[in-house]
Amino acid sequence: MERVSTRILKLPRFGAEVLSIDRAFKSGPLFRLVGAAVGTLVGMLVLAGYAVHFEPAWRLRPDLPATHPYTALCIVLLGLGLLPRALRSGMGWRRAARGAIVLAIVLLLIRVTVPLSGARLLDAMTPFAKTVAAERAAGKTLTMGIAASWALLLLGFGEVLRWARRPVLSQVFAASALGLLFMAVTGYLASLRSFHGTIAPATLLGTGSLAVALLFATPRHGFMRALTASSAPGRLARVLLGCSTAFMLAMGWVMSRRIDAPGIPLPADGALLVYQTAIILALTWAIVTVITMRADQLDRYRGLAERLLERTATRDALTGLLTRNQLTRLRSAGSAGSAGNGGGSQRQAAANLLIDLDRFRTVNEAFGPAEGDRLLVEAARRLRRVAGDQPVARLGGDEFAIYCARTTLAEAERLGAAAIQALATPFDIRGRRFRLTASVGIAHAERSAGADLQQAADDAMHVAKDLGGSRSVVFAPEMHEMRKLQIELEQDLHEALRREGELSLHYQPVVRVKDHQILAVEALARWEHPRLGPIAPDRFIRIAETSGLMVALGNKLMQIAVRQAAAWEADRPGSCPLMNINVSSAQFVDGDVVSDLVDLLRQHSLSPDRFCIEITESVFATEPAVRALERARRLGFRVAMDDFGVGYSTLSQLPRLPLTSVKLDRSFIVNATESEGDAAIFGAITQLAHALDLVVIAEGVETKPQLDLIVACGCDAVQGYLFARPMRPEALKVWLERGYVGDASPSQLA
Ligand code: C2E
Ligand code: CA
Ligand code: CA
Repeated sequence: MERVSTRILKLPRFGAEVLSIDRAFKSGPLFRLVGAAVGTLVGMLVLAGYAVHFEPAWRLRPDLPATHPYTALCIVLLGLGLLPRALRSGMGWRRAARGAIVLAIVLLLIRVTVPLSGARLLDAMTPFAKTVAAERAAGKTLTMGIAASWALLLLGFGEVLRWARRPVLSQVFAASALGLLFMAVTGYLASLRSFHGTIAPATLLGTGSLAVALLFATPRHGFMRALTASSAPGRLARVLLGCSTAFMLAMGWVMSRRIDAPGIPLPADGALLVYQTAIILALTWAIVTVITMRADQLDRYRGLAERLLERTATRDALTGLLTRNQLTRLRSAGSAGSAGNGGGSQRQAAANLLIDLDRFRTVNEAFGPAEGDRLLVEAARRLRRVAGDQPVARLGGDEFAIYCARTTLAEAERLGAAAIQALATPFDIRGRRFRLTASVGIAHAERSAGADLQQAADDAMHVAKDLGGSRSVVFAPEMHEMRKLQIELEQDLHEALRREGELSLHYQPVVRVKDHQILAVEALARWEHPRLGPIAPDRFIRIAETSGLMVALGNKLMQIAVRQAAAWEADRPGSCPLMNINVSSAQFVDGDVVSDLVDLLRQHSLSPDRFCIEITESVFATEPAVRALERARRLGFRVAMDDFGVGYSTLSQLPRLPLTSVKLDRSFIVNATESEGDAAIFGAITQLAHALDLVVIAEGVETKPQLDLIVACGCDAVQGYLFARPMRPEALKVWLERGYVGDASPSQLA
């Protein structure tokens, strides 16, 4: 109960009230048990009194009416019928109880439908006919009162309605019975013979108890919930009922004192009291019903809130997939159940697939979180379709997981490939087709050497990312070491940024095709790790990007490049080639790379038109980056699109971007020399770029045939090992002094 309470309190406006209703329910079964037990007991006492001729049992006082044995019998039957659920007994008892109720109803129907002969019939039917006859002979009235019969009948029907799952109607019947009894009570109080004369005190007590039992048989429903709640509406309902009851009792008392007093214009009979009773009770119950409706509404809110909370605990709010916790729970249940099965190479065991979208951040940056969310929902939908019956979870951000309790490694790999393929279909963002790739890490219990499946899948996924994403990788134990190394490198990179000398730049000439003049040099990062030696730039750049170090690293490299450019400028004023600087999209997202660069140039009195910013296509996915690059163009910088042809933006975007050149990716050139179709595409792209006034640079040219093709296609410049490898600034100096690369052969350049 308490656990529910803290949750419910979070509900706006209604919270605390709903909670208290739940607390009040607890006493329902007790009230029911006591009510039914008292009723049964009273009825039995009366019957026993008849059996042993003990008059006080059926007649409290000589001037008050007596309880007819037939009435007592019906009370006992109804009382027994109402008991079982309160006693939590079994099926047999339940049937017997229902039988008792039905029997009571039949007896009562006989009484109310055959009024005159019925009464006599009843006298004859009871086993106490003699006592009854004696009572009559003594001039005392002893009939089964019609009011009592109706009250009991209402209770019988109320119980039947409860069986039929009509709790509210059942309570209405119980309340009506109570209303009838209440009239009798006021009748007693006002000494109105016409009322108290019809119901004996024992009948009143027995029937009243039964009515209470029936009311509390379904306290979770209808107006009883409102009445029993310690909520605001509950309190109001109780106060109302209490007040009207007190008022009626007071009226009865007033009447009994003043009814015959001279000068007071009160009707001389009890009719007024009866009508008042009827009207006020009806009004009270009507108000209680209204309050009930409100309580009902609260309950609906409570139900909704509970379901919602249940859902948020187990389901991801955005995608409706399982949450991380829920998946962990499933996994631990699965690992407990799947121990020791299978054999051979096709062993079935648990597998965990971790799916991470590559470059998802650019979507959020470019289109806003709402579009990002839409994309995640769509990605979730596709993954669910791929996964079939296997549970799919969203672990957070753009990370998903599929868990297979029993599968072979081959099946898990197939599932991973299917997931990648499903996500490779372009997403629709604001009418634009947007391509995303995903990296998948697969951990199969057979192959994970006891490692935690989640951790193993995570390690494998990172390997997939390191390999460039858009692939799935199966976990192997050494990957864990690799991952640890990765994390170590991350720490070491922090150090390298602080120290001098570990990070440096090498420079690779960009050569004009027609005269082999050096147009530019590209600055390429190098990291000489004190223990591990040189670390590949792809690798540490990615580490910097994923660990939030890219802005710092980028600034450090820009400083080195600008300082170098200043040194060359001082050496050979006015005749230096362009300096190409690689800039990662993270530097646009997390920093203001253009302003940083402008500041640096100002410090060294260099002009922006000697610099070219190299960015990849993914940078253009973000709106702020495009604006920053437009500003860079206005300031005089050149902007080159790097690795063109491997990204996901389309040619149609080229005209809209603030570019001065495109660098065709190496894979492009390699393919073009191998296939005529690709060569045609290569040529077409070059022409298109020229039409847009862009300088076309071919990257990674290693062989003479490649160079020939490039010349044939009309590219403006090339960069590659064929002419020069990236080199230290001292080595480059020789080249710069010459100004052109001539017919150098790769062996000379090493
Ligand atoms: P990138 O910008 O495409 O740089 C060109 C890469 O191709 C360089 O690799 C270069 O050494 C290599 N390359 C040049 N000619 C040839 C060739 O004929 N054949 C082959 N196979 N490769 C050739 P590197 O230096 O290892 O850099 C790799 C990547 O790391 C770069 O690709 C760039 O994306 C990134 N990177 C390097 N330095 C920086 C930097 O300062 N900032 C940023 N953000 N990224 C950098
Ligand atoms: Ca580059
Ligand atoms: Ca490139």
